[in-house]
Amino acid sequence: MKNFNLQKITKVLLILAGLLTIAAILLYVIKPARRLIIDTPLETHVEVNAGDTLSKILTEHGVSGGDINTIATLLKQDCGVKGLRANSDVLVIKKKNGNAPVDKITLSTGPWKRVELSCDADGKWNADVISVRKDTRLVRKSGTISNGGIFVQAGIDAGIPIGTVYEIINLLAFEIDFERDIQPDQEFTVLYEENMLDGQVIDGGRIVAVLFDTHLDRRGKLKMYRFEKDDGKYGYYDDEGKGAIKSLKRTPIDGASISSKFNMRRKHPVLGFTRAHKGVDFRAPTGTKIPAAGAGRVVVRSYNKGYGNYIKIRHANGFETLYAHMSRFQKGVNVGTTVAQGQIIGYVGSTGLSTGPHLHYEIIKNGVHVNPMTVTFPRIDDLTASQKTEFLKIREKIDYALDTLASNPNLSIPM
Ligand SMILES: [Zn+2]
Repeated sequence: MKNFNLQKITKVLLILAGLLTIAAILLYVIKPARRLIIDTPLETHVEVNAGDTLSKILTEHGVSGGDINTIATLLKQDCGVKGLRANSDVLVIKKKNGNAPVDKITLSTGPWKRVELSCDADGKWNADVISVRKDTRLVRKSGTISNGGIFVQAGIDAGIPIGTVYEIINLLAFEIDFERDIQPDQEFTVLYEENMLDGQVIDGGRIVAVLFDTHLDRRGKLKMYRFEKDDGKYGYYDDEGKGAIKSLKRTPIDGASISSKFNMRRKHPVLGFTRAHKGVDFRAPTGTKIPAAGAGRVVVRSYNKGYGNYIKIRHANGFETLYAHMSRFQKGVNVGTTVAQGQIIGYVGSTGLSTGPHLHYEIIKNGVHVNPMTVTFPRIDDLTASQKTEFLKIREKIDYALDTLASNPNLSIPM
């Protein structure tokens, strides 16, 4: 029995030793590969990392101190390059063969700029700023929200650049609450331009259209089209040409969690009996800034036993918003003050009938309390008759692109 155990232990130890050796070899191979992407005797790609300098990198490649000084001066005086930028610049260092000195260096600095340095037969270095071919390509990407319910992740999974994903969130911020409305299985489609550099995708450009299945009965499917007016100003419009810029924000405090939803029959946490909850409670620390959900005029700035310190703002289109339990009001915000959307009106607190610091937020439409999370806000109808005609033509073009790219993703469609 003892012998058997010993054999078993020896076997395990041998396997472990083998695994460690493999790991060590892998580490040895992988580590230098992170810095050198492609390594042939003739051409070496070097990504500039933090702490790297031109002098350090070129010295490592056998370039003499005198040549390094010449190259640095050429870059600075002829090409406007003062130094290397970490995590962005890439150098390609070339030599005729393994034993020859470096005679060509290409520096890609920023997405559109490339400098080529070459050494002639007499050992004289020259610098050229190379013009880079830029173009854009229209692409259509679709995705489905996964179980995590995170749109950012689903967007990245669909192959949309992160900057474009955040732009989509911004342009739909008044339509969708991306922290709370997003549910698994929601589908989305984005038509946008990719910025290309010598045939390689660099980043996302203009967003041309966004389709979003909101899964919310009252709001249904969202489809917004980019439209640029003659003065160069652009916006996103629905299929009828109504603008996406909304009068009110559903959630005035970014990132706050909901502690109590809109409910016309709720047992009140302090009073203990059923009482309608005519708003939404956002839990947030005392002192958190409260911005106005939309532009409007302050009509109430007061205190009562229920709401504590509260403010009511009247907006366009028959809407009013109310903010309760504030610890204090913002200085200069009084009855009659005109406020802009996002302007700070007060600070989160727990005054009045409240069990802890939170913002109690109400939206009132034509005198009736509505659920801030599901109310439909009016779209702004700001296109003139001729702009609308122009918009409908653009819409047709965009719809054609969406249809065509769905079946033929590689087709080139001018927009
Ligand atoms: Zn409340």
